[in-house]
Order: sequence, then C-alpha cells, then structure tokens
Amino acid sequence: MQELTDLATGSGQPAYRGQQLFDAVYRQKIDRLDQVSTLPLEYRTRLAEQGWRVGFPSIARRFVSSDGTIRYLVELFDGETVETVWMPEGDGGEIGDGSEAGDEIEGGTAAPGWRRATICVSSQVGCAVNCKFCFTALLGVKRNLEAGEIVGQIAAVLRDRGVEPPLQRVNIVFMGMGEPFLNYDNFMKSVRLLVEGVGIPESRMTVSTAGIVPRIRDFGQEPVRPKLAISLNGSNDALRSEVMPLNRKWNLAELMKAAREFPLRTREKMTFEYVLIAGVNDAPEQAREVVELVRGMRARINLIALNPGTELPYRTPEQERVVAFRQILVDAGIPAFVRRPRGRDIFAACGQLKRTVEVAPVKPIFSS
Ligand code: SAH
Repeated sequence: MQELTDLATGSGQPAYRGQQLFDAVYRQKIDRLDQVSTLPLEYRTRLAEQGWRVGFPSIARRFVSSDGTIRYLVELFDGETVETVWMPEGDGGEIGDGSEAGDEIEGGTAAPGWRRATICVSSQVGCAVNCKFCFTALLGVKRNLEAGEIVGQIAAVLRDRGVEPPLQRVNIVFMGMGEPFLNYDNFMKSVRLLVEGVGIPESRMTVSTAGIVPRIRDFGQEPVRPKLAISLNGSNDALRSEVMPLNRKWNLAELMKAAREFPLRTREKMTFEYVLIAGVNDAPEQAREVVELVRGMRARINLIALNPGTELPYRTPEQERVVAFRQILVDAGIPAFVRRPRGRDIFAACGQLKRTVEVAPVKPIFSS
C-alpha cells in the first residue's frame, strides 16, 4: 500500500491515488489499467506508458473433483505455474478448531451450495524441503512467489467463483506448493495485503510449516499473523528424519521446544499435522510417542491418511489403522481429527500438487 502511495506522490499525484489503485486491484479485482475508472484517464495512460500493469495471475486450467473441490493451475507473469485449490465447505484442516462458530456473518449472504469455503494457496514454485511422501518435492524449487502473486492466486479464484469477502466467508490455508517459511517476508506481506486489501481477517488464515525453527520463532513475534500448523509426520527423530530430511537440521527436540515456547493467543491452539503412511509411521506405538511429544500443550492433531500417487513407494493405511491411531490420541486427551481427503480424483489433495495436467481417475482407498 505504501509502495502505491509512493508511486502516486512520486509522479505528482495526490496520495489517495495509491489507495484507489490498491482498491481497484484487491477489492474490485480489475486486471486492466485502462479500466481503473476511479483514476483520471490521463494518469492511467501515463502509468501505462511508464510500463506499469495491474492485475493478477491468470487461470490456465481448472480441474473439478466429484466432491466439489476445484484445482486451479494458475499462470504467473513469467509463464511459471502454481496450483491453488478451492474447497467448498472446507476441510483445509480448519474443521474442528472452533472456527465453525458464527458461520453466518451478520448481513452476509452465503453463495448457493456452501456456507464457508477454503482456498489453499501456494507460496513457491515447487518446493526445496524434499519430504519423501510429497509430490511437490519432485519438482524441486524454482523460485519464491512475490506477495502479489500469493494474493493474486486468491484474487483470481475469488473472481472465478464470484465470491466477495468479507460478505462471504472464506478461509485461507497456506498449504499449497512450497514452504511458506522459506519465503517468509513475501508470505507475511501477502497476509497484510489480504487483511487490508481483500478483507479476509488473519483469524481465518492458517499457515503450515515443515518445521523451519528460526522462522517459527519470528512468526510468534508478528503482531498480525495467521494460525500456525506444524507438519510433524514422525514420532521420533529416526522416523522423522527418514520421511522429512530437514529433521536432521532441526530435530524434534528443537522443533518441539520452539512449539512449546510459541506465544499462543487466548483460546488459540497449535495444530500438528501427521501424515499417516502405511507401515512407516502409523503403528500404535508411534501414536503413543506423539502423545508424549505434545503432552501438556494446547494442541490439536490433524491426521492425514497419505494421498497416494504412482511415483512414490508409500501406501495409504487401512481405515482401521487410522481410526486406531486417532483413538490413542483421543484417549490421552488430545483433540485429534482425521482430515477428509479432498479432490484426490483430480490430484488436488494434500501433497499431490505437482502441476498435473492429465487427470487419470484414481480409486480412493477409502472415503470417510
Ligand atoms: N511446506 C508446508 C506447507 C505444505 S502443507 C508444510 O510442509 O507444512 C501440505 C501438508 O500436506 C503438510 O502437512 C504435508 O505434510 C502434507 N502432505 C504432503 N504430502 C502428502 C501426501 N502425499 N499425502 C497427504 N498429505 C501430504
């Protein structure tokens, strides 16, 4: 915002032209400078002559799942693509965190077919973290996204769905391609743009990290921040290092220390995600280790049965294994939820984002 104000005043325009540009892009979602009718024609022309463009990434492809999830292939200005997922009725992992309360916004109208939707957004082209069970890892990392490209994915999807926050309730999860905490500054800038520009409060946002410990500490100091989720995925160092090599850099002791010291807000809970992989980390013994890791914390656990694919050697556990694992956590007094897989048939589910353009139907292992 300040940058737009500087741009306006720098060219001899009043400061409020910055606000007008900001609103045109983020609120009205206008993607052509000549259509920003709040600005004088002469100024629009001059900005265009100086090479300025407004707008956001374009939607290259749309894949619609039988469960209503839509996976968007979003094209950036340099031709790179990332994926953004629209999930009517959640479950981007926010279900069960208490935020269902107060669904109906005063004076608000819900779009037909859903009362709340979740957008899962990418923070990088590809990912550098190299988790062994994740398909995005196969791409490697190409580059960080700019803050405007992160917000741009959301603006593009909102426009495509005809949805306008804050009138309609939208949750944002930073859980798409990439590791948000390895693109920390742009990620945080996008949060501020979403709050100030698009009208989505930070309380409806969740960021997930693979466990970049120094950034978890920085994040705790942010005055305006989303909720935090940490991908645990292993119950001891040997196991976690096997599936998440970054555990060799920041091990469980360091990670859990940062998690325990994280300044939670009133009624806020820390979320841990745990991807259950058949025969690797889904045994009752491992559930008991998880109980010890989080004992005494204000935490909840989201269990995600592995979303499968052909390139990786891992399998989805049987449903009974998932249920048994959850029961051990629940019996120990830890809130635990099994995340409903969304959009598996179009490769839109957690860990499946690798810019697939051919969609072969895959049979769900189980549905719940
Ligand atoms: N890089 C961040 C953000 C990505 S969030 C992070 O790692 O947290 C994606 C979530 O999906 C993470 O919790 C990750 O552990 C999980 N995930 C990755 N691959 C998966 C797969 N094949 N099946 C199910 N969940 C997966």
